[in-house]
Amino acid sequence: LVQLQDVHLSFGDNAVLQGIDVEVRRGQAVSIIGPSGSGKSTILRCITGLLRPQAGAIGVGGTRVDQLRTEAELIALRKRVGFVFQQYNLFPHLTVLQNLVIAPTRVVGRSRAVAERDARALLEKVRLAHKADAYPGELSGGQQQRVAIARALAMQPELILFDEVTSALDPETVGEVLTVIRDLVKEGMTCVLVTHEMRFAEEISDQVYFTEAGRIVEHGPVAQIFGAPRSERTRQFLQRAL
Ligand code: ATP
Ligand code: MG
Repeated sequence: LVQLQDVHLSFGDNAVLQGIDVEVRRGQAVSIIGPSGSGKSTILRCITGLLRPQAGAIGVGGTRVDQLRTEAELIALRKRVGFVFQQYNLFPHLTVLQNLVIAPTRVVGRSRAVAERDARALLEKVRLAHKADAYPGELSGGQQQRVAIARALAMQPELILFDEVTSALDPETVGEVLTVIRDLVKEGMTCVLVTHEMRFAEEISDQVYFTEAGRIVEHGPVAQIFGAPRSERTRQFLQRAL
């Protein structure tokens, strides 16, 4: 479903991605782990078309993301790729339900009734049905993040990218967000997860990529990366992180 081939990206003379190859198959959960500044978020932003690499190819389900030209093409891509990041960025002046309804009605032209019905079902799924009429400011961080996940799902994306979605949360609320992600993975949603929660990555991932300084040092099935890493760097990183 997602393929990056020899992707290179620089900010000025800072070569942030130096030949990245990643493959995500439909229904897989893939984690990207690695030290701060190694390029993890940049990889996700390339997949959504927010950043364009200087070289290499990026495919999402048959679309060459690196070659998209028009705003309309980028919008079409973003309907297919859900993206949830550390800051939830909910609309503060809209209720939880309205936050979920706005994109499906305005961007994809779904009817209000259908969008509301879907939004209520998604709130069930993230266990926040009782907060439909609350405003984001009235929710905990973990609840807001679950709304942000539901909002991404409301567009019925083909895959969803999570960029350190729990790193701004209080420890008590991390678990409830991870539970929602775990449920999605179990349902077969294609997920790409950038996380510092190594135990969680180990639990839910099919494949793991370890990045350092803009390169993939090692990738493979979760059992290999966590159980028997081939690279000394991976081993050291996990020893410190676990
Ligand atoms: P972290 O774990 O801290 O989130 P990361 O692996 O996600 O790190 P990236 O955010 O992808 O790392 O950043 C990789 C490098 O790219 C860093 O050196 C960063 O300073 C640089 N960088 C990222 N975004 C920009 C930008 N918009 N302009 C200039 N440099 C950037
Ligand atoms: Mg990052």
